Amino acid sequence: MKGVQFLLSLAVLALATSIASASDPSPLQDFCVAVDDLFSGLNVPRDTNNPVGSNVTQLNVDKIPGLNTLGITLARIDYAPFGQNPPHTHPRGSEIVVVAKGTLYVGFVSSNQDENRLFTKVLNEGDVFVFPMGMIHFQFNPRHIPAIAFAGLSSQNAGTITIANSVFGSDPSINPDVLAKAFQVDKNVIDKLQKQFWYDNNN
Ligand code: MN
Repeated sequence: MKGVQFLLSLAVLALATSIASASDPSPLQDFCVAVDDLFSGLNVPRDTNNPVGSNVTQLNVDKIPGLNTLGITLARIDYAPFGQNPPHTHPRGSEIVVVAKGTLYVGFVSSNQDENRLFTKVLNEGDVFVFPMGMIHFQFNPRHIPAIAFAGLSSQNAGTITIANSVFGSDPSINPDVLAKAFQVDKNVIDKLQKQFWYDNNN
């Protein structure tokens, strides 16, 4: 009886592990849709005139249906002088980024188990950096001229969670008592942050 129970719990564990897989599953066919997919204009600079000073153009499966089941996304990111792509995370994809123009100060923070270590680099044209799946990361343009980067993500729909938008700009708002305690600040600091408009730079 013990043996059966053990096997049963092993089976449940195996099932749970497969369901909990955060990345895209392997494709079951060569490709999914037979459409002539084309996106044009990724060479055109994006409007970065917004509160964070950046614009992310993510060509995921919503923009290119032919990406369905292929597990990849392409992105262009434009940065205004001193603009930034604020701290965010992609729940379903790792990201590899290359600087096409200008300079970027980039970084990501590891998980609690890894003691929240910060990994940063200053990237110049042609430099490549990787943000592992799920890690909070950012890019900042430290110069007075615009910057451009291109990125690949390992999902057809990597998803984006911008930390400030999620925590302070949720709808409805998180109870400010929760956030005051979580961030160890006075409630009026939280009130101020929750009243702010949190711009989404993803298009
Ligand atoms: Mn990213």
